[in-house]
Parts: sequence; C-alpha cells; structure tokens
Amino acid sequence: MRISASLTRIIGIANIVVLVIAITALVVLPTESEPTAGRTPQNAVPKASAAAKPSAGPEGRPDLPSGEPPQPITATPEFAKQVKANELGLVPIIMYHRILKKRIATIDRTPDQIRRELEGMAKQGYVPITAREFAAGDIRVPAGKFPVVLTFDDGHATHFALDAQGRPKKDTAVAIIYDVARKYPGFRPVATFWINHYPFGLQSPKEQAEAVQWLTAQGFEVANHTWAHPNLGVLPKKRVSQQIVRLERLLKKLGVPPSKTLALPFGAMPHPKKVAGSGAWDGTKYSFDAVFLAGAEPSVSPFAKGYDRGAVQRIQSNGKKGECRKWCSKYWLEWLDKHPGKRYVSDGDPQRISMPRKLQGNIAFKRGAQVNPY
Ligand SMILES: [Zn+2]
Repeated sequence: MRISASLTRIIGIANIVVLVIAITALVVLPTESEPTAGRTPQNAVPKASAAAKPSAGPEGRPDLPSGEPPQPITATPEFAKQVKANELGLVPIIMYHRILKKRIATIDRTPDQIRRELEGMAKQGYVPITAREFAAGDIRVPAGKFPVVLTFDDGHATHFALDAQGRPKKDTAVAIIYDVARKYPGFRPVATFWINHYPFGLQSPKEQAEAVQWLTAQGFEVANHTWAHPNLGVLPKKRVSQQIVRLERLLKKLGVPPSKTLALPFGAMPHPKKVAGSGAWDGTKYSFDAVFLAGAEPSVSPFAKGYDRGAVQRIQSNGKKGECRKWCSKYWLEWLDKHPGKRYVSDGDPQRISMPRKLQGNIAFKRGAQVNPY
C-alpha cells in the first residue's frame, strides 16, 4: 500500500531525525530535577488479586528479587470492571541508551535519572514485562496494574556488569532495576537488552557468554540490534539480512535462544519493510514477533487495531526540554497518568482480554485468548 508505505517512511525518517538531532546536539544539560509524577499507587485492587504473588524461579538467585511473572487469576467481567481493565490500551515502551554520571549526549541518562523514573513508574503501578512477552501478547501483570517495557539499546557496558563479588555492578541498568524491585516489591525486575557484536562492551567470547546467560537465566531478554548498528534504511536488502543473521549467530554461539524481537538501529526502517521482520542470509533464517522503532509515542496494545508488529513505537527516556517537549518519557508518562482511560490496564488473567464493552470493536488480535468485555 502506497500510503502506509510512505507513512512508514516518514515515521522512519522522523525517528532518524529525532535521534540524529539528539546524538549530534551534545548538549550537557544541568542536573534536572524530575520529581516523580504525583500519584499514589493504585490501592483499589480487590482481594481476588491478592493471590498473585511472584514465586521464586527455578534458576532465580535467592539474593536477587525474582523476575518470575505473577501467578495468573481468573477475571470475570465483574472483576475486570472493578479493576478498570483495558487490555486494548496504550503501553509505554521506554528506550534507554548509555547511563553516565555526566551526560555527554542528550539521550544519555544518569543513574539517578533512571532510578527516579523507574521509582516513579513503580509508584504509579507500572510492572515491567519484556519486549518478547509484549510481542507475544504474553502480558502477565497483576490486575489493575499497567505493563511497561524497559528497553536498553546498544549493549553498553553501563547496562550490565558484575562486580568482584559477582553481583550486578552499582549504577548499571540491571543493578538499578534490582534496587527498585527491592524497594517496590511489585516491580518485576525484567528488561530487554538489544545488543550489537560487543555485548556490554565485552571483547572475550567467554565473558560475553557469561553475561548474556546470566541475564537470560534471571528473566531478562537479550535480543537483536544488528551486528554493527548500520542505518538499515540505506542498505540493500541482502546486507540488512546479513546484519541481522550475524548477530543471531553470535547469540546462538553465546548460548541464548533465537531473538523474537529486533530493535532497528536509529529506528531506521529497511526497504522493503518486511526484510526486518523475517528473512535469511547464507542459509540462516530469522523471524521476529515484532520490530521496534526508536521514537516517539506509547505503543498500541498488541491486541488492538492499529498494532503494527513490523513497526512498534517506543519512547525515549528523557525530560521535557527541547526536542523532548513532547516526545519523551516524562511527557508521555504524565500524559498517560492524565488519561487513564487510554492506558493498558491488566485484568490479571492472561487467558482473557478484558475491556469496557464500548471498546470491544477495537480488538484485532485475540492470540488464543477469550474476549472479556464488561
Ligand atoms: Zn542503537
């Protein structure tokens, strides 16, 4: 379709423009004070969800909060109504890059900025899921809570490293996520790391394998961000597939499962678009449940009309200055808080898709689940 193809291209270009501006601006901002959006946690969750306690995973380390999803419950229409479930609503998928005490580029975040943002989301009732779970429609979040996907691009050393005691190193993404999960036990410590050919800045294959296996054993997702982070929008189709396959082969060598998600470097869409979603190079095939962009709004629910698994929206983590006046996480998290009827609210029941009856016509994908209008 000509219209949607050109629209996709415009969105793709907009993504590049946003990112290029962000990267080249190199504006070191003064320390922002970002008070967390003022709202108390959802405390109106009825008793039926009290059974939804996370259980320790078989591989989970006892010294770290468990990344296991909560136990499912059965949501009747009455129950779904009580918790205001709306599983056709919007889901924020937050995009992070480097974590630096002193920011260099505007897309960098400080450890404190990430901590505040995650704590703010935990207080509001957001519960993380991975991009893989989102793309599969496997959204296991307690009733009345909201899914959020935390995504970290480029496999930077500040995302994951272990200290001398074998614990996640202070102020890395993983350490911050665990800190927040300890403080807010409902905040499930999972995230997605989209990596390139030197995962977490590690050069040795042994260290790379240890890192990615540690993460996947804890419930984190490690997936494909291409081998060398090129702009796929200007590469011939064959080279696009090559970039994806080379990273898939690395993941296999490092002992993690095939990627089910891909994040496009710079958010740049290749041509044709479908080569990002599935293809083959040199006899190796790949197929993703979803392909993720680099900006600039919350994603449509994977069950709703308008969801395009070939171009899933994300939100850059940032304050509300300059380019981020309207496109970044502070803006959107505040917006979602002011528009609770637009947000994805879970019914706690992965077997059912619940929504107010007036929104039922907006469903597009059932993924084997039962539709539960109220
Ligand atoms: Zn990237």
